[in-house]
Amino acid sequence: MLYIGVDLGGTKMAAGLVTRDGVILGKASAPTQVGLPHEQILKNMASLIGDVLSETGRTADDIGAIGIGSPGSVDDSRGTVVFANNLYWRHVPVRGELQKYYDKPVFVDNDANVAALAEMVAGAARDRRNLVLLTLGTGVGSGIVIDGRVFGGSHHVGAELGHLCVQMDGEQCTCGNKGCLERYTSATALVREGRRALIDYPDSIIATKAGGNLDNVTAKIVIDAARERDPMAIDIFERYIHYLALGIITIINAFDPEVIVLGGGVSAAGDFLLEPLRRHVKEHIFYKDLPHATVELSPLGNDAGIIGAAMLGAIESGGL
Ligand SMILES: [Zn+2]
Repeated sequence: MLYIGVDLGGTKMAAGLVTRDGVILGKASAPTQVGLPHEQILKNMASLIGDVLSETGRTADDIGAIGIGSPGSVDDSRGTVVFANNLYWRHVPVRGELQKYYDKPVFVDNDANVAALAEMVAGAARDRRNLVLLTLGTGVGSGIVIDGRVFGGSHHVGAELGHLCVQMDGEQCTCGNKGCLERYTSATALVREGRRALIDYPDSIIATKAGGNLDNVTAKIVIDAARERDPMAIDIFERYIHYLALGIITIINAFDPEVIVLGGGVSAAGDFLLEPLRRHVKEHIFYKDLPHATVELSPLGNDAGIIGAAMLGAIESGGL
């Protein structure tokens, strides 16, 4: 049986036809066109799914279910998006709308949650049943899989590990609190610290790479400058590792997963990120003499959203 997975984002939506093993047979994307009535956006989603089916020479009869990963808070039992800030959606009946076009089971869950599921099926946590995914991007997203199932909490708002407090009275967060993990471990955090360094140390490699312009500072520039042994960039990156390790250790202490998977833009730093991080975690973990979660990088990239959404359907039909 095959499954459709849709990764719904604020800018674009991507749909794919996926096997039970998480292999994408074909995919297509279209602009989300935020601002249109949700009925129209979901109609467009239905026709995008139609495109994927026809391009792969399949019909709706070939699919077992449709899964959708959406930003925001999702009520998976009702198949509704309860609240999604960047779509301007409140209580949108995604399942009900899509079933106007496809007489198939439709499953909806949070995008980071389904990305965690994708890691279990086809990514860094293949064949494991307990994992936590952290995506290190503009913010820090997270998904928890316990015993092979997404854990979304009791009120459809889990898991927001990016808002674990790691610094009392620390940096102001967009959530209204201070000192959240994502203020220190997102790409945005590296940019913020890089800009501060550029102002204070105009001779640093960060400043040179950014042409002395604050607007040009990126997370990649800061990381590349650290690779080139710029003292300011090394300082920023060591603090980044420190906070990320602190968050990971807290997560391991809470859940004792088999794997912590890191995705998102910053994970492109590869071993430069992974090696010091693993060292820190090993050094500060609670049960030092017992096995603990390994820290791995996601190999899936942007496909995680499509694969994970499709796996919602595979799970419900007993396929996983
Ligand atoms: Zn926060």
